[in-house]
Amino acid sequence: MFVDVHCHLSFPDFDNDRQEVIGRLKEQNISLLIDPGTDTRTSKRSIELSSLHDFIYSTVGLHPHDVTKAVPEETLSELESLAALPKVVGIGEIGLDYHYRDHCATSQMEAFRAMLRLAKKLDLPAVIHSRDAWKDTLRIIREEKSSNLRGIMHCFSGNTEIALECIRLGFKLSIPGTLTYKKSTLPAVVHDIEIGDLLTETDAPYLSPVPFRGKRNEPSHVRFVTEKIAEIKQLPLNAAAGIIKRTALELFAVA
Ligand SMILES: [Zn+2]
Ligand SMILES: [Zn+2]
Repeated sequence: MFVDVHCHLSFPDFDNDRQEVIGRLKEQNISLLIDPGTDTRTSKRSIELSSLHDFIYSTVGLHPHDVTKAVPEETLSELESLAALPKVVGIGEIGLDYHYRDHCATSQMEAFRAMLRLAKKLDLPAVIHSRDAWKDTLRIIREEKSSNLRGIMHCFSGNTEIALECIRLGFKLSIPGTLTYKKSTLPAVVHDIEIGDLLTETDAPYLSPVPFRGKRNEPSHVRFVTEKIAEIKQLPLNAAAGIIKRTALELFAVA
């Protein structure tokens, strides 16, 4: 019933207890999990994991943190061939992250554009990571806009105005566990946006929701995000979860 559209379950953080974590997913009724790659190595790991479990899918990407210089042509063609494998349902994570002082905006923008073009070429949704970089993120999406460019803004952190612009450009907003934090500005965004444009994620092992803040996050906690959305939207939990699941299945074309 619940969906976690962005969770790094294939990361080494889960190497010691992945089976137990997956067991808890079943207990908690998580019926879809999307595990994004951040470079060729982690994309391969994600595909290994998704090939073992029906309800886990992968996306292949190039995280802006890993882009410090021009991306070699071979990397792009390797990612393109990985994207053709079964269980790969999107391109990501990709995007821009200007949070750290030593980031290289020029290389990040070039890589982001190349990966958006790959998403369009393969007709797959894009999974976008944007941190402290909304202006350039939205400008590049506007410049690359085409009838089949679509996807999610993972770990959405913007305001309502940015949210509406993302939706206008063909993107859904994926809401992380920070929605449950006391000082979060996300409740106002969730309130203002149609539930059909919202998705749920954990970004585990990062960003644990209340009441697990500060501990390793895990995908079963996506339930707390969904509960909070249902509360804000004044919908029964089942109804909210059902709408969110349908949006995810449709966007990622998962049967
Ligand atoms: Zn991210
Ligand atoms: Zn992530």
